[in-house]
Amino acid sequence: MQSTTAICPSLFNATSAQDGILSRMRLPAGLITFKQCEVVAKLTNQFGNGEIQITNRANLQIRTSQALSFDTLLDLQDYRLASSEASTDGLRNIMASPTAGIDPRALINTIPLVKQWNFYLANHPELEILSNKFSVCFDGGETISVSDRPNDICFKAVEINGAIYFSLYLGIGDRGDSPSAVGRLIYSKQNLEVLAALTEVYRDYTEQKLNQTNSCTRPPRLRELIRAWGVEHYLLLVEQKLGYALRRSSLELLSQESGTRVAYKHLGIHAQSQSGLAYIGVVIPLGRLTALQFQGLGDLASQYGGGALRLTPWQNILITDIVEAQVEQLTREIKGLGISVSTNHPYAAIAACSGYKGCKAAFTDTQADAKKVAAHLENCIKLDLPINIHFSGCDKSCAQHHPSDIALVGIQGKEKKSPEAYRVYVGDGNTNFGKELYTECAAQDIPNLIAQLLKTYQNQRRDFTQTFREFVNQQS
Ligand code: SF4
Repeated sequence: MQSTTAICPSLFNATSAQDGILSRMRLPAGLITFKQCEVVAKLTNQFGNGEIQITNRANLQIRTSQALSFDTLLDLQDYRLASSEASTDGLRNIMASPTAGIDPRALINTIPLVKQWNFYLANHPELEILSNKFSVCFDGGETISVSDRPNDICFKAVEINGAIYFSLYLGIGDRGDSPSAVGRLIYSKQNLEVLAALTEVYRDYTEQKLNQTNSCTRPPRLRELIRAWGVEHYLLLVEQKLGYALRRSSLELLSQESGTRVAYKHLGIHAQSQSGLAYIGVVIPLGRLTALQFQGLGDLASQYGGGALRLTPWQNILITDIVEAQVEQLTREIKGLGISVSTNHPYAAIAACSGYKGCKAAFTDTQADAKKVAAHLENCIKLDLPINIHFSGCDKSCAQHHPSDIALVGIQGKEKKSPEAYRVYVGDGNTNFGKELYTECAAQDIPNLIAQLLKTYQNQRRDFTQTFREFVNQQS
């Protein structure tokens, strides 16, 4: 029987929430086959509330009325929806760009690396003592970048003097910060052994810490090791384990290689690097869809595409490997499921954490408030560029760590008649959320406020290419 005591849910150890027992399936690189979609849809209909949720690490979450039985967990292992080792099922999902292997701009296909690392984790149960938050990401240089997503370790492909390397990034900042380049280049064939050595040294540190204190203490995060030892000492121990020194590179050179990359360009129809094939990015409102829609998309991927869906860290879905001549027909069928493919749909770039129905720390019902905003915008404004609006029930910002165009952070309202309120931020500013625009705005006034902000932007922007972010950043 599934345990239900976890703070971070997995399949073997779920979380008991106000709206049911929350289980999370980790899908490396967000890949799920149409057959697996069918299994998840059936499971959700049989034991759950018929709804499936995509998380901001491209996992799947389902809510059930009771803990899953041991037999069900074994079935999920058979379909590779659960790790073969229950002990490492709780480690965070392995992240890759949703366009890995299909993006014409990518330097390298990272999907094989994701699979190799997942295999490594499954065969090293001794890693179960690591923090469940231990997270690894591979960025192959795609237009849809993931290297700025919060991860402990990120390998980011760079091209230097015509050769492709991975630049090593480590999560050395605060919770939610992007990882930083540490000036080491890794040849792609050494990737796995370097990652294994980074993990082994971290495991040794974890073991020491757990042995020093009583067994109830939580395992340290990798960033705690880095704060205690410093990056250079950590890497020295990694090099000792490897038996060779990692190639050094100046940080200036690495930052020149970054280029401009974006988050929401995966929505809509795009050509793949494979000639004659295209992918479609579909909009999943707040990452939630019905089991019927999920299975429907899986079936369409089988009929028109490569037979798998790709879940994105922006809580949307891609169908890939579609013959270009069939794109139009497939688009019609996706719409028939009640799902949009438009980049400019109000839901395209709205993110919200679980809010007070799923989290005790929340001051607001973020999910309901985000739905009200999307419905209002649909009726009163036509967007022509995606606008990223982020609802957070408190300042921990679980749903999205990168800055948004408009951020709404739940607070306890001072007015008795409107105890649910948000602090409103826009663009870039001197806080993690951007520039503070309003200290307090009642939740019921948010839809009108956002519509007004967007209308002002559309009426006063320099031209149609100026983004909302550029527009608000230029205002004093
Ligand atoms: S941001 Fe705050 S309210 Fe929302 S899920 Fe995280 S801790 Fe809970």
